[in-house]
Amino acid sequence: MEKVYDVIISGAGPSGSVLGYLLSKNNINTLILEKENFPRYKVCAGGIQWKTLQLLPFDINEVIERKIYGIYFSRKLRDVFYKKYHEPLIYTLDRRKLDDFLAKKAIASGCIINFNEKVKNFEINNDGVKVYSEKNNYLSKILVGADGAVSTISKKLNKDKNVRKIIGYEIEAPLNNAVSYPSSDDSIILDFGGMQKGYLWVFPKKDCLSIGDGGPIKDALYLKKYLIWFVKKYPFVFNEQNFFRNVLMNNIKYSHKNNIHIHDESYCNKKPELKYKINAFMIPVRTQRTFLCDIRILVTGDAAGLGDGFTGEGLYNAIFSSNIAFECIANALSSSNFKFSDYFEKINKEIYKNIRNSVLISKIFFSSPVFYYKLIKNNDSFFNACARILRGEKSYYDVLNKLKLIKI
Ligand SMILES: Cc1cc2nc3c(=O)[nH]c(=O)nc-3n(C[C@H](O)[C@H](O)[C@H](O)COP(=O)(O)OP(=O)(O)OC[C@H]3O[C@@H](n4cnc5c(N)ncnc54)[C@H](O)[C@@H]3O)c2cc1C
Repeated sequence: MEKVYDVIISGAGPSGSVLGYLLSKNNINTLILEKENFPRYKVCAGGIQWKTLQLLPFDINEVIERKIYGIYFSRKLRDVFYKKYHEPLIYTLDRRKLDDFLAKKAIASGCIINFNEKVKNFEINNDGVKVYSEKNNYLSKILVGADGAVSTISKKLNKDKNVRKIIGYEIEAPLNNAVSYPSSDDSIILDFGGMQKGYLWVFPKKDCLSIGDGGPIKDALYLKKYLIWFVKKYPFVFNEQNFFRNVLMNNIKYSHKNNIHIHDESYCNKKPELKYKINAFMIPVRTQRTFLCDIRILVTGDAAGLGDGFTGEGLYNAIFSSNIAFECIANALSSSNFKFSDYFEKINKEIYKNIRNSVLISKIFFSSPVFYYKLIKNNDSFFNACARILRGEKSYYDVLNKLKLIKI
């Protein structure tokens, strides 16, 4: 006999677990099938916006590792400047801990999560959706694909077309003698110019750094090469004397040892290479035609292509789409209307418009990156506007509207 549920969710990432939590809290019989065993590594810089913390139905303070107020900006490690904001710009966390925390919240609210159980296939029929995992068969009234950028659910319905793809590379570098970052430093590094479209980040956590870069998938090779170049230089970028702030910011040559300049390749090559595993993953950015829902089926988060086309962030939209999905699933179960046209409309209105604007902002920024870099450097009110977007207090729409690039 098949086990029967109101809702089955494929994937216990932030989107799946938050949805599982909301449904179970409201006595909707929910099962999550997750292919991995938690806690597990997830390719992600682990930056979470202020607005995401406001959206979550509970406090996640215990998994926040650093509050970030400042940014060291550079262009291929030159032309460095520093900006600070009076409120946290973002918060950093470790995805192992965040995802585990969210899954435990879902379980505590009554949701069942089967870890180590991958969803393989599904079939929609009149009574519901038959879900086939690698261990069992289930029957559910509704199936949700919250299974990320390479979603089994979206792939079957969308055939993996109609989505823009950003690729992100990440190295997780433990803080030790070779790699340091002052524990009191509440800043991140954003480096531009290493690739045509995209940027490199260094996000400090409690015990490690996330160093990574991202951009269009066609530039994958350049992105990987640039990340390796940067990581080789890293020990000179940020040492215990806070080199980045004290030396680069003042445009002084690196003269700590042997009068060496940081851009001197031969010096870098003499040092033992830092050897880290480079991880890569996709950030899907939806188009109008990316799959969203069908009868008895809907997808959320990365599975719906809800990545930001400029920053590559996806946590906010993953959780926002789960909130919308929760409302629509509750309506569907009470009305027995499983078409999800309300979900389609709400995602388009509340999320897709902003994604479209993020793609437009990305085009504008990367058409004249030096101009906008210098604008952030020299114009404090422009930086403050960017800070409010990073926090989520303002949207891309506000910026485009100010620049008179869209109709009101
Ligand atoms: C390099 C990089 C850096 C990033 N940095 C940031 C950042 O700093 N801030 C930010 O907001 N966003 C960032 N993102 C994006 C962010 O990671 C995603 O948008 C976010 O994880 C989406 O959440 P989700 O729950 O939709 O999917 P996921 O977090 O991908 O979770 C999906 C879950 O489904 C499971 N799963 C997959 N297939 C199946 C299956 N067939 N059966 C069962 N389970 C399955 C997976 O194991 C996983 O646990 C980054 C992405 C990348 C690639």
